[in-house]
Amino acid sequence: YPNALTDAKNATRQVFSNFKLIHPEFTFTLDDDLKGTTTIKIYRDHFEQILIILLDNAVKYSRQRQEVHVSISRNEHNVAIAVQDFGEGIAPKDLKRVFDRFYRVDKARSRDKGGNGLGLSIAQHLIESYHGEIRAESVLGSGTIFRISFPIIKSAEADD
Ligand code: ATP
Repeated sequence: YPNALTDAKNATRQVFSNFKLIHPEFTFTLDDDLKGTTTIKIYRDHFEQILIILLDNAVKYSRQRQEVHVSISRNEHNVAIAVQDFGEGIAPKDLKRVFDRFYRVDKARSRDKGGNGLGLSIAQHLIESYHGEIRAESVLGSGTIFRISFPIIKSAEADD
């Protein structure tokens, strides 16, 4: 199921507009330095689900500076997407565990934000099933960046 990255970008924009409706107070920006068409092989629904999990978290955990920055870039082998927020951040000891099922950093504080601690483990599982990667970088009190990447499909394999 090859999807041109154009599709993915449209999906991303669609996700943005959904979020603008739900969270009209947030600013989203999208950088992308892609030229031409790049293909990654992923179900569109799965791609959207991954982005929604990351965007939803970025919104939920960034009350202080309501801004989310998304960038898309590529190198020879991979497409990389980064979702950055400037919110509460995650301490190093928690950062190691955020992809664990049911893990939530501060149960009392995050109770009012809903959630089961499943989003990131689902995102990781989906991404890895497409031979992609997800990593998190965070500074407590300053914000968090989730970086995901997927292998680029060369045009000869794109029609499999
Ligand atoms: P849900 O199952 O609805 O996604 P959740 O947000 O609690 O609930 P995860 O998405 O798996 O679950 O996230 C796990 C924990 O990691 C969260 O509870 C939160 O403490 C922390 N976390 C995730 N994303 C961020 C972020 N962008 N900034 C700060 N903390 C985050």
